[in-house]
Amino acid sequence: MEEKTCILPGGWVDEQGALHREVIFSALTGREEALLADNKLNGAAQVTVVLSRCVKRIGSIHPLSESIARKLLIADRDYLLLKLREATFGSQVQATIPCPWPDCGEKVDIDFSIDDIPVTPSQEKGPLYRLVLSPEAAFVEDGKAHRELGFRLPNGGDQERLSAHLAENEAIALTQLLARCLQSIGPIEIASADQIENLSPLARMEIEREMLRVAPKIELNMDVNCPECARLFTVPFDLQDFFFGEMRTSRDLLYREVHYLAYHYHWSEKEIMEMPKDQRRNYIEVLADEIERLNNAV
Ligand SMILES: [Zn+2]
Repeated sequence: MEEKTCILPGGWVDEQGALHREVIFSALTGREEALLADNKLNGAAQVTVVLSRCVKRIGSIHPLSESIARKLLIADRDYLLLKLREATFGSQVQATIPCPWPDCGEKVDIDFSIDDIPVTPSQEKGPLYRLVLSPEAAFVEDGKAHRELGFRLPNGGDQERLSAHLAENEAIALTQLLARCLQSIGPIEIASADQIENLSPLARMEIEREMLRVAPKIELNMDVNCPECARLFTVPFDLQDFFFGEMRTSRDLLYREVHYLAYHYHWSEKEIMEMPKDQRRNYIEVLADEIERLNNAV
């Protein structure tokens, strides 16, 4: 199967401190399409599964275990998902979203190419970062003020763990995320959820701002013009939702393709399911031409 390469905007730093950024990957095969269409994992857990199956190598790390796929930064996982989508279904994306204005709500078509999504690599690779809070934001415990923090950036494991809370209560999810990502506050190692609760809103804001500053970025916010009400709005494009939704809607088609190829070529289901979508499509096109040629010859 054809292998492709890309460079992660962030990268994975191993225990020895070596940075791994070059990725070898291949498109999803029918097997992954079926697996993703059927399973009941949350979006982030599905991303972990698909990355560990389709990414062959990151730097010198191969194969990619689920445990490392989970530790990749959120932007790196999003980036790989975009690359996998491009390799499997092509770079053009067409989706429909509702206009967010309450008095409109019309469906708006959005249409863009994955190549046009801005990607900004991170400059500092971490994996640990230091931040000095402003004096007003200092963390006070037992009468002592601490300003120096150590943190890591959010990764796939955080997304998997917090996605349920995020749907219920965003504030709780954010507190838990900080508790997972903060490594130290002053001399205090690994902050507890209670200590995070005691961080002032200003301190939280300074931490979030610094995390955003050092993280690699994938710009998934789209400016959209509603043709119905003519107003402009910005929507976050929900990559995971879109990607897995696409898998589900194409599942029936997948089974028809497998049937068609098995019927004409007498290949086993296993062989066909190991092909990526464009390979199945190519055979189907050849078959269609052949059948038309035979029909014309009669
Ligand atoms: Zn509108």
